[in-house]
Amino acid sequence: MWSHGTSTRPGRLLPIDCPTVAKLYFRYGAMNSGKSTGLLQAAYNYEERGQRVLLAKPQVDTKGEDQILSRLGVTRTVDFLIPHGASVLELFHRYATGDDPDALLEHVDAKPVACVLVDEAQFLETDQVDDLLRIAVLHNVPVMAYGIRTDFRTQAFPGSARLMELAHSLEELKTICRCGRKAVFNTRKVGERFVFEGDQVAIDGVEVTYESLCGQCYLTESGGRLG
Ligand SMILES: [Zn+2]
Repeated sequence: MWSHGTSTRPGRLLPIDCPTVAKLYFRYGAMNSGKSTGLLQAAYNYEERGQRVLLAKPQVDTKGEDQILSRLGVTRTVDFLIPHGASVLELFHRYATGDDPDALLEHVDAKPVACVLVDEAQFLETDQVDDLLRIAVLHNVPVMAYGIRTDFRTQAFPGSARLMELAHSLEELKTICRCGRKAVFNTRKVGERFVFEGDQVAIDGVEVTYESLCGQCYLTESGGRLG
């Protein structure tokens, strides 16, 4: 056993009693793989132990939908939305202390945040994902981001690509294709028709649904194209 202050030995990057550093987690999966359910369960687990969590999600449209919806019927309002161009680090400071960032140290009685949980993380900008890593590493608060890896054209969402690059821990949440295989891709449907062209985020007012498919079923429906 050796500790901080001792010289490092070759082949050992961290001392055995190195303090634990909080991690950035990315839990990803196709549509309907239980991401929001998992997030709400994680929040519940923290709160059951008397700990405080912060829930957030990107603001993707003007409606400002601030609910996390689980397919199992559980719904919860987020603590804050993350608008385009916003600093997630600033938002974290503001909501973690219940006040503006300048007053951070004066709020010693505010219960510390034990975990930050982010839903729909695929819609974050790359800078905002960078901030999630900063919250984990610099503030020692674990951050769990949940999101979809790729869009309906099998292209990575920018937020998900950055999370794949930065997260300490990657975990795939699995769901089943209609054929029984593991679903990995998301397909977009207009009515009963699959579509393979269009914007990454469906425009407000256009009624689309999504179905998670395995690679084989995706390629069958797309006529062999990927993106
Ligand atoms: Zn299939």
